[in-house]
Amino acid sequence: MSAPSATGAAAGEAPDNTTWRRRYAEAVMNTFGTPDRVLVRGRGVRVWDADGAEYIDLLAGIAVNCLGHAHPAIVTAVTEQLSTLGHVSNFFTTPAQVTLAEELAHLTFPRTPAGSSKVFLANSGTEANEAALKIARRHGGAQRPRILALQGAFHGRTMGALALTHKAAYREPFEPLPGGVEFIPAGDAAALAEAMGPDVAALVLEPIQGEAGVRELPAGYLEAARETTERAGALLIVDEVQTGMGRTGAWMAHHLLAPGVVPDVVTVAKGLGGGVPIGATLATGSAADLLGPGQHGTTFGGNPVACAAALAVIDTISRQGLLERVGALGRRWSGQLASVPGVAQVRGRGLLLGLGLAAGVGEAGQVVQDLVRAGFIVNAPRPDTLRLAPPFILSDADADAFTAVLTDILATRTATEGAQ
Ligand SMILES: *Cc1c(COP(=O)(O)O)cnc(C)c1O
Repeated sequence: MSAPSATGAAAGEAPDNTTWRRRYAEAVMNTFGTPDRVLVRGRGVRVWDADGAEYIDLLAGIAVNCLGHAHPAIVTAVTEQLSTLGHVSNFFTTPAQVTLAEELAHLTFPRTPAGSSKVFLANSGTEANEAALKIARRHGGAQRPRILALQGAFHGRTMGALALTHKAAYREPFEPLPGGVEFIPAGDAAALAEAMGPDVAALVLEPIQGEAGVRELPAGYLEAARETTERAGALLIVDEVQTGMGRTGAWMAHHLLAPGVVPDVVTVAKGLGGGVPIGATLATGSAADLLGPGQHGTTFGGNPVACAAALAVIDTISRQGLLERVGALGRRWSGQLASVPGVAQVRGRGLLLGLGLAAGVGEAGQVVQDLVRAGFIVNAPRPDTLRLAPPFILSDADADAFTAVLTDILATRTATEGAQ
């Protein structure tokens, strides 16, 4: 047998979905199951698979490709940086790293004085949360062994972030996990007050729980969380990995949901690099100085190529008014989607939407399959919920096309499920 080829050049013909899937199953660890489709190309909000089928990508790599696929601003920034200086390690810094840290600190903590907020650059969301967890451990040390997290929380898959993640199926195969984490009911201020004490280092939360099905914390909870943590001397850590970087129509979801609240620590990743892997842990005030020399590190974190991508994302969102665009399209689209028969509830903000399906349409996973066959990529974070997290550059026409196709699919499913 000849060596496996990425192009299928030997046969003079590119491999199809079926060939790639067979090779995947043989070569890639089975952590996801074999994906149904093999994507080979993307442009704007569209992607194409190995059989030539075209899709409108309303998931964007799970809230990652905020500027769509192959955006020229990211392509240019990454190409120029990589052909100038691609990697230096943390023995050195680069203009891209310093500039990104300054811009991120400013857009995350817009009302704190310059120099009071600091950034640790990592490569992913889970790593951003690992750094946040280490900051929490450094806060109060042995006097504050407890950390509070919310039921339904998802904070990542590495051991520390997994300790903060609620779902038993993710946690239990890997126990024992780092200790001291307790889960309290999400959105229940009285339960939080009850659990809080002088031995708590931090409360960790997502302003909108993405993996739990796009579930927003109730109005007033973030304010209560800030007040309760402050009174007990605990840190408030806000995980904006999915909700941050403009996804909800503001740079950070907590800016939109609780404009008066300033967390001690904020984590971001997903949309930050527009598809290039990068994460960041931001801290303000005394929390910004809790990690000292030698206490944390990463070889790739803060590398200039990822930083250049993130700077291009921030610059494009700012210059093209995409925060306003996300807010306006999100309001219009969620109103439209709420009136689709079979959609019981529309949750979320901006372009992070969870569509709660009515009982009569069947499992959300089956609706996802119908939508993919009709050329729209979405996913089902829960058996009763579809998640939309499209690129910010989605047009009204493509959003409307999805609404129309979803309406047809749910009507058909209501008829057939009802007939069973
Ligand atoms: C995706 C996600 C993470 C983990 O990010 P990775 O880059 O997959 O490690 C953490 N927190 C939240 C809220 C997320 O949505």
